[in-house]
Amino acid sequence: MKKYKHFETNAIRGQMSRSQKKEHSVPIFATSSFVFNSGEEARAVFAEETDGYMYSRYNNPNTDEFVEKLCALEGVEEGLAVATGMAANYLALMPHLVPGDHIVASRSLFTSSHQIITQILPRFGITHTYVDCDDNEGFANAVQPNTKLFFIETPSNPGLDLVDLALIVKIARKNNCLVAVDNSFASPYIQNPGLLGADMICHSATKFIDGQGRTMGGAILGSAEAMEAVRFYSRQSGPTLAPFNAWVLSKSLETLPLRMEKHCENAMKLAEFLESAQGIKSVRYPFLPSHPQYELAKRQMRLGGGIVSFEIEGGYERCIRFIDKLEMVSITPNLGDSRTAITHPASTTHSKLSEEERQMVNITKELVRTSVGLEHIDDIIGDVQQALDRSK
Ligand SMILES: *Cc1c(COP(=O)(O)O)cnc(C)c1O
Repeated sequence: MKKYKHFETNAIRGQMSRSQKKEHSVPIFATSSFVFNSGEEARAVFAEETDGYMYSRYNNPNTDEFVEKLCALEGVEEGLAVATGMAANYLALMPHLVPGDHIVASRSLFTSSHQIITQILPRFGITHTYVDCDDNEGFANAVQPNTKLFFIETPSNPGLDLVDLALIVKIARKNNCLVAVDNSFASPYIQNPGLLGADMICHSATKFIDGQGRTMGGAILGSAEAMEAVRFYSRQSGPTLAPFNAWVLSKSLETLPLRMEKHCENAMKLAEFLESAQGIKSVRYPFLPSHPQYELAKRQMRLGGGIVSFEIEGGYERCIRFIDKLEMVSITPNLGDSRTAITHPASTTHSKLSEEERQMVNITKELVRTSVGLEHIDDIIGDVQQALDRSK
């Protein structure tokens, strides 16, 4: 739980793993297992009567440091570091569900989350209902006697639709359901679903938490109650984060507040530029007053986030021409990187959805998604401007 009063301090000093040598910079504990001083100590640690490390599939000082800092940042009790964001999302679902259960999910989801819900869960007899992100009544109406869990992503990828988290928690409480929130797009700096009552918070640490496109990683955090089943499932099935990756990600957290401030400042400026630019059909950014859920964004999010999505006039061909004319911005699906990145969701990240599914979440052929980086904003806007001009 929260150790220091301020986010910045928790990101840096929320936890620091040290060896016996008491170094200031945290070492990497590249070890698969840990030794005991006696047979009795080994027994007690395995019996969980005393704290102690035994085997790095369970935990390791580097994964502990990373996850304890994250718990302090999200304001929740417990967490688990995992190898990818998708391992976290999988762990938010599987440990809590049995055949015959039903879940409610927001319709605009990261494609792999959508694939788990539509392709994997049905094999185990688990059904789902999708609800449009802004359909508050729809979420209440979707609950069935066998509904166990709400799975929410907000802001959504790539449409930047928002779900009212306080409302979801209220509906879930009334119906005895768990709430899991994929918080990857916001990062803990922008919103803390756990403080609104969500039971589990999932992160793809690959994105803003790493922030420099170096490593995969994930985390699932939440109440001690919700995490008990998650911990059991994870220990047995083994989606563990490697010590080196945990070390990178824990270091990354130290600069998360500074980076998020800049990502959001640059994103806001790019969004404002695009709103007045020639050849742009629509711009989506939560903190633009033109966003249909602007009021909710201001209530729920501390800043608008680092992603801007927009539609370009002139159809698919113009879109691709525009992307091809960019000279600095990278064409890559990763996001949350210090380098500005662009992708065309309909033909890449969301190509696995059917045309109908894409339409339902407003992923048109003219939509591009930008992850706004930390370069100087004039260079970012300059590149976008010249690509718009040269792709007419
Ligand atoms: C990238 C992403 C994931 C998956 O994370 P990985 O680390 O790639 O497994 C899940 N949810 C959202 C919203 C993402 O952007």
